[in-house]
Amino acid sequence: MKPKIENLYVHIPFCTHLCPYCDFPKERLAGNRMRDFLRGLQAEWAWAQEEFALSPRRIFFGGGTPTALSPSLLQELMEIAPWGQAEEWTVEANPDGLIASKTSLLREAGVTRISLGVQAFRPADLAWLGRRHDRATIATAVAHVRQAGIPLLNLDLIYGLPDQGPAEWQSTLEEACALQPDHISAYVITPEAGTELIRRIEQGEWHPDPDHESLLFLLTQRILESRGFSAYEISNFALPGKECRHHQAIWSGEDYLGLGPGAVSTVAGRRWRNIRDTTLYARSAESGPHPAHEENEICGPRERRAERILLGLRTSEGLAEETLHGQEACLSELVAKGWGRRFGGKFLLTPRGRLRADAVAAMLI
Ligand code: SF4
Repeated sequence: MKPKIENLYVHIPFCTHLCPYCDFPKERLAGNRMRDFLRGLQAEWAWAQEEFALSPRRIFFGGGTPTALSPSLLQELMEIAPWGQAEEWTVEANPDGLIASKTSLLREAGVTRISLGVQAFRPADLAWLGRRHDRATIATAVAHVRQAGIPLLNLDLIYGLPDQGPAEWQSTLEEACALQPDHISAYVITPEAGTELIRRIEQGEWHPDPDHESLLFLLTQRILESRGFSAYEISNFALPGKECRHHQAIWSGEDYLGLGPGAVSTVAGRRWRNIRDTTLYARSAESGPHPAHEENEICGPRERRAERILLGLRTSEGLAEETLHGQEACLSELVAKGWGRRFGGKFLLTPRGRLRADAVAAMLI
């Protein structure tokens, strides 16, 4: 029997410019490579139809910047598969370049949520992050999403930036709330190997401050919860019923298929990552049987359990205690420290515990 796929991720690896902190697989827009990408995706989709029982209910188009494609290429992307039959279809976008013709096209194709890479509002923050937009661009992009009738809006934000004290971060959160999103993702800035950000740290231009980040993390929880958002995961906040079901499925350990260069899949105990180079991806997808993989591993029960703990601890659902069988002493210690609580057969982290989620996971795995 073919493995059933209900969760689909599609990676669109193009950006109009490259941000200094980003380590996602991406490249600058270039016409011929976008054509390669679309041909490769078409071939990979055809392969996936043979290989799996595809009935994607939750689709996420990430990147890169999916909406960096021109309207005509975006239209081609929309037509590769019947994506619009999904219950939930999220597309990531950047405020700059999100013109009305693109939001209309996305809505007509059936997109249900735009996830907008706002990151910050203050000019100094945006400049440090290497972003090209400003407040006015953000407001225009949000207006286009609303006018097109796309039902849901997420705003991505980043904290822990230079000269960003509690007052500055609070005003960023308030500006975001004033745009009336249904969902906010707030991530701490994270130095990733090989990025320009690491060079800045090595040259002493900036360094992360974990204590300050913890302060801003707790402030985020307080402010967004007071505005009606629930912290359903450490970095993700939603109004009631507006959670991202695709994310929730992945966090709860469901299989997912990733299409596109650099995309990761986990299906039936196997995990692989497609080759990142767009041209090689397209060439290998077209020559078949599937795009070349640069990582390929068996994901056995032990690895799946470790992942369940790592991801489940980050959510407000917590972990079923049977997942933590034999960890009685450790759970009692975590409760005594005030980092966790037990409720209805589940183990959940407290806000203080969420600050140490990775360390708690390491204790329990
Ligand atoms: S726009 Fe997004 S994906 Fe592209 S470089 Fe910036 S952070 Fe990375």
